[in-house]
Amino acid sequence: MPRVRVKLVSWDEIVEWTMGLSKIIEESGWKPDVIVAVARGGYVPARLLCDFLDVTDLISVQSQHWVEAAIVAEKAILRYPYKVDMSDKRVLLVDDIVDTGESLILAREFITREWKPLELKIAALQWISPVAKMKPDYYLIDVKEWIWFQYPWTRLEDISQFITRIFREDERAREEITEDKLKELFIEWYGIHPSELSHYWKLALEKLQKKGTLKKTDKGFKLEKK
Ligand code: AMP
Repeated sequence: MPRVRVKLVSWDEIVEWTMGLSKIIEESGWKPDVIVAVARGGYVPARLLCDFLDVTDLISVQSQHWVEAAIVAEKAILRYPYKVDMSDKRVLLVDDIVDTGESLILAREFITREWKPLELKIAALQWISPVAKMKPDYYLIDVKEWIWFQYPWTRLEDISQFITRIFREDERAREEITEDKLKELFIEWYGIHPSELSHYWKLALEKLQKKGTLKKTDKGFKLEKK
């Protein structure tokens, strides 16, 4: 069993899931005038929903809750709280996944209070029902056991953070380690083989060296910056 359960989600799955979600919304008979994406995770599903539901108006709010991949922050914060008048609009708030639900709760509170929409509904591709503090009006997948869904739009960011976490937290990576050893630890930690990540593995290692997080040594890599 890996330390952090991760599922790599493909672009094809995202299109398929969003299409499934759009059918559920359509079949409910409700149609939004405006779609609001919750940044950043809601962007791709929101854009695809515009396509599948034939909606032209797309805007966003940024509600942040997770500090890095699979590590939650104490509190969600809403950034750039601009105001618009939505008093004659049916608004659909869209996110990728409802985990704790904190970011959506915050976004919903803000929009209801400041934008005063005629109606506000919430849609997400996935809902982690055992832990979520809210249930979206529309969702496609009810996730019964917590997993980090590694969505395709955060692949480089997540892989870089996953690698860094090994160096920070695993005793065996305290000193420099070879790339093969790093791969072995990565599989043990996340249950994913770096070969499944194609060019992202190499890109992540390059990015971490550029940022000064990792240093290349004769043998392999070591943590440069704590
Ligand atoms: P939350 O406020 O906990 O519902 O989550 C806020 C955002 O963090 C989500 O919209 C996702 O973009 C990201 N996130 C949270 N949990 C997960 C997860 N288990 N897998 C992938 N992304 C997640």
